[in-house]
Amino acid sequence: SLQDKVALITGSTSGIGLGIARALAQQGATIILNGLGDPAQIEIIRANLAAEFATPVHFIAADLSKTAAVEDLMQQIDAQCGRLDILVNNAGMQFVSPIEDFPPEKYDLIIALNLSAAFHTIRLAVPGMKARGWGRIINIASAHALVASPFKSAYVASKHAILGLTKTVALELAEHGITANAICPGYVMTPLVQQQIPDTAKARGISEAAVIRDVLLAAQPTKRFVEVDELGALASFLCSDGARSITGTALPVDGGWTAH
Ligand code: NAD
Repeated sequence: SLQDKVALITGSTSGIGLGIARALAQQGATIILNGLGDPAQIEIIRANLAAEFATPVHFIAADLSKTAAVEDLMQQIDAQCGRLDILVNNAGMQFVSPIEDFPPEKYDLIIALNLSAAFHTIRLAVPGMKARGWGRIINIASAHALVASPFKSAYVASKHAILGLTKTVALELAEHGITANAICPGYVMTPLVQQQIPDTAKARGISEAAVIRDVLLAAQPTKRFVEVDELGALASFLCSDGARSITGTALPVDGGWTAH
């Protein structure tokens, strides 16, 4: 049980982050949700989660592509909860374009959100984790941390890089009861994937149906999308005592994608 733990899941108003928040709430952790979106809709998500699992659920809005906003988020957690035991860096975005047309400001934004935000949350969470001698850092990377696909230069660079960050932090914290791991999902049908289908169709000159069949599902030998509860289950295991020696790893949940 994670009853005495406080968990931040960045980008948890939707998709994988929300799935992981649900799994940790089920274990009794106090949950801090974060993300963008309509405040009224987010309040419904927050209240439902708190009611379903009878655990405290907070929401703190912060645009994590900005360093000052990350710092402010971590300060607010300290003020509201006084501790942070579990840090799940999940907020992320995708953009699909041939590199010669890739907008430089999109590249900067993707690196800031998918990579640098995790550096900042980790550096600010570690002192408290060290003081308590326990911590779990889980970075949601991607199969694209291990292999590449065309037209996703910023995303693939950010995901390979977060693996390096994960390994470095794991080594630094190994004697402090703190683990750091990367979960590497294959394709999950979230808004992030839905939104890239038209651009992928354009970049490859094929139909949207062909993108799903010949690009997305073709990558996964299981021929099905991964579901968010599968990522919640792994995150939950990584937070357990049984996972205390698992650190510095990349754990694919990709239906066999990176096996071929
Ligand atoms: P999603 O679009 O459903 O959710 C993204 C979340 O991040 C949302 O809560 C959104 O509000 C939040 N967010 C976006 N920009 C933000 C910002 N600037 N500041 C704070 N929060 C912000 O996407 P998802 O598919 O659930 O992706 C979650 C993570 O999983 C990402 O890091 C993504 O790269 C990774 N991932 C997704 C897939 C997939 O197939 N969906 C596969 C591998 C890895």
